[in-house]
Amino acid sequence: MNEKNLMSRRRFVAGASSMMLAGAAAGAVKPLSSPAPKLAIDGGEKAVKSSPSPLVRWGEPERERLEAMLQQNSLFYWKGPQTELLIERFREICPMKYVATCSSGTAAIHIAVAAAGIGLGDEVITSPVTDIGTVIGILYQQAVPVFADLEPNTYNLDVADVERRITPRTKAIVPVHLSGNPCDMYAIKALADRHKLIVIEDSCQAWGARYRGQPIGTVGDFTCFSLQNSKQVTCGDGGVVGSNDERFGPLIQKLNTKGCDRANRQGFQTTMFSTNYRMSEPQAAVAAAQLGRLESIVSQRARLGNLLSEKIADIPGIRPHQVHPEDRATYYFYMFRMQPEAFRVDRAKFVKALVLEGASVGAGYIRVPIYREPPFQKHDFFAGRWPVKEMGLTTMDFTKHRCPEAEAILETGIKVTIHEAMTEEYILGVAAAIRKVAQNYAV
Ligand SMILES: *Cc1c(COP(=O)(O)O)cnc(C)c1O
Repeated sequence: MNEKNLMSRRRFVAGASSMMLAGAAAGAVKPLSSPAPKLAIDGGEKAVKSSPSPLVRWGEPERERLEAMLQQNSLFYWKGPQTELLIERFREICPMKYVATCSSGTAAIHIAVAAAGIGLGDEVITSPVTDIGTVIGILYQQAVPVFADLEPNTYNLDVADVERRITPRTKAIVPVHLSGNPCDMYAIKALADRHKLIVIEDSCQAWGARYRGQPIGTVGDFTCFSLQNSKQVTCGDGGVVGSNDERFGPLIQKLNTKGCDRANRQGFQTTMFSTNYRMSEPQAAVAAAQLGRLESIVSQRARLGNLLSEKIADIPGIRPHQVHPEDRATYYFYMFRMQPEAFRVDRAKFVKALVLEGASVGAGYIRVPIYREPPFQKHDFFAGRWPVKEMGLTTMDFTKHRCPEAEAILETGIKVTIHEAMTEEYILGVAAAIRKVAQNYAV
């Protein structure tokens, strides 16, 4: 097949795909030719013909909220109209009886950990492939994060490995819905119930995701979201923590505000010890407007990510981002894995070739699993020391911690940027680029 035919075939695929159903389209992008078309890195034509449209994240809805806010004479969160609207909109997305806004996703998780009564020497099992914010609150409560291994293609907690790491000291599990792909929550909840453990969902990357048709974050005892700038919706920095539990709910509403019991008009008294994690009205104004856009943002991300999976599913040596068919992943990012033995180049070369084909991709996610980062290797969390270890309340040695699948995921994963302004045509181009690079570099 010559270059011209290739072009028109691709254009046909791009144009026709919007009318095609999932299964029907799969056959249209079988290997294009043999020998493989010349790579852009070798001077060939780029596989990605359209560049992703620029992402416009704010506009009229945010302006309207900010202007309303400027009419107020207080920008304090308690009973603030912007905060109230944010909480109301949050409850439409994630029906929680108790909701507290806060300054970050890290703060949301710390509040949940503290409300759960987790403290000195307690163990909390979580994922080693996540934002460090997942474990900061655990460490500040003088508890011990215990990292469990992951499933190879969802990149979420492997429930069997979580079970192996349960000890008499285990108090909680923090499943991370990595990249907005729901964890197997029924299995995690069943395990937690058997061992009387609390479940704190890290939904920071999972705005708009659905687990078995239900809103993400509603199976565990707590759910924690981040509104940091990189997330699907944002106010620059911010967080939300929610719980339906009568034991924990009143606590989360104190733990974000120096332990004051504002719900019971104890605004000037510290009724329990905590830090100040409040979110102010300007942040809440932007966040409330953003939640009004949520469905349009995440439905497009879900569609594009699923389309990419469908188009690369049959490429030898490539394993797509796996999502349960009854769930909705909202692709904070998309990540596929390459099987190293299937290719004659390493990941760095593979990624470089993809970038030159015009695809917005990068190697891996975080550099190494969390336990391999310096503070963990040195156990020097608090002014050079780690009190729980010095007190003999844990035998944890992060230099000996191993999660082989998590390490392999970070070594073989290739991250694809997905955002709501991207077109189907662009994603089809990325799929074609992956196919072309894989074909050229196959062993
Ligand atoms: C972003 C993020 C956090 C922390 O949120 P911040 O708002 O940045 O503090 C925690 N966990 C995960 C999975 C995240 O992606």
